[in-house]
Amino acid sequence: MAHSVSLSKYSVGVGDRFAQEAKAQLRACILAADAGITVTPVWNKSNREHMIIGSEPQSARAAADKAVRELAWKHDYHVDADHINLKTVQRFIEPCDFFTIDVADLIGQPAEETAIRTFIEKHPELVGTLTIPGVDGSFKSTREEVSQIARQYVAAVHEAGRIYRHIEHEKGKGNFIAEVSMDETNSPQTPLELLIILAAIADDGIPIQTIAPKFTGRFNKGVDYEGNLDQFTREFSADVAVLAFAVKQYGLPANLKLSVHSGSDKFSIYRPMREALQKFGAGVHLKTAGTTWLEELIGLAEAGGEGFEASKEIYSEAYAHRDELCGPYISVIAIDPIRLPQPAEVEAWSSRQFVSALRHDPSNAEYNSDFRQLLHIGFKVAAKMGARYLNLISEAKETIAKNVTENLFERHIKPLFIGA
Ligand SMILES: [Zn+2]
Repeated sequence: MAHSVSLSKYSVGVGDRFAQEAKAQLRACILAADAGITVTPVWNKSNREHMIIGSEPQSARAAADKAVRELAWKHDYHVDADHINLKTVQRFIEPCDFFTIDVADLIGQPAEETAIRTFIEKHPELVGTLTIPGVDGSFKSTREEVSQIARQYVAAVHEAGRIYRHIEHEKGKGNFIAEVSMDETNSPQTPLELLIILAAIADDGIPIQTIAPKFTGRFNKGVDYEGNLDQFTREFSADVAVLAFAVKQYGLPANLKLSVHSGSDKFSIYRPMREALQKFGAGVHLKTAGTTWLEELIGLAEAGGEGFEASKEIYSEAYAHRDELCGPYISVIAIDPIRLPQPAEVEAWSSRQFVSALRHDPSNAEYNSDFRQLLHIGFKVAAKMGARYLNLISEAKETIAKNVTENLFERHIKPLFIGA
């Protein structure tokens, strides 16, 4: 009897730009296991990252397998083809067992009116007053409102279905985890919209185990959440309730859970998230990526010598090319150029000053979130250094590994999954 690949309750996406930190990342999951909580590591890497670095998806699989073997990790782990579409999925098929199907670009694309009518007729429960266990108050919507929402998302869901079936055809049913992501878009989805999307996904027969909506507020890369905390908490909790409802109502996989993208460094929402998860006995997938690359840079600066020189050089290059680096990330960064130190000033910094400005420690007066965000997207500069960068991080391996593990465990896994 074939065993279906199934994602456990708690999981953490551990993106690793240069595929050198898998062991240090896995150590964070070992610390969690030692504390009695199993957190499944998922090595995620998008096609965009592979293009910038010049790497192949197979390298992420190889690094993950090696770390698991060397540290004798006995639990599950996965390799995620992050943000793929029909054009980019092919080279991920073999090495990956987790696919994040990104259809954000199709939100709002016109759908056939017959598809909308069929959807509405199939789902009378969505029209009128809908009470969801665990959500205060009820959703009230007219047929026209539900049609309006369906019109926004039906084309995107159909595309997700096409991508899902392509992967299923290649890999075989049950041999991979499917996620649908709609986070890289401009407007957040309300809990009612999420429910309608889930109904459409179930109609299309996509057995998703995770879904990544866009939440309210800003999820800027590598820095804390910005937005209305009360509203986020209410919406997140309602989203968790909506998922539980959709599993029962539409027969979606029982382990369906939310996936939070750009999820690293969102210190102020981990506690409300954990409370909502506990209230419903729900799980979550927290996707992180660039936070590990920044720890690589911190370790490099902390090691001193040539590594520290290279970190300053990376900043100065990133500063010179800041506009072109920011371009593709405009919806997920917010850099105030006035707060960026001049490269000449950084040149004169001590290693300690550089680390203080970069490390995400809000209690440190020298911490600079603008400096941090620019370096977050500055991995392209390190990629261009090629072998020189890889040699330097290999020399600073121990200092880097300590920072990578500590960041992932103390600042992410502990507050979200274990409770500080
Ligand atoms: Zn994402």
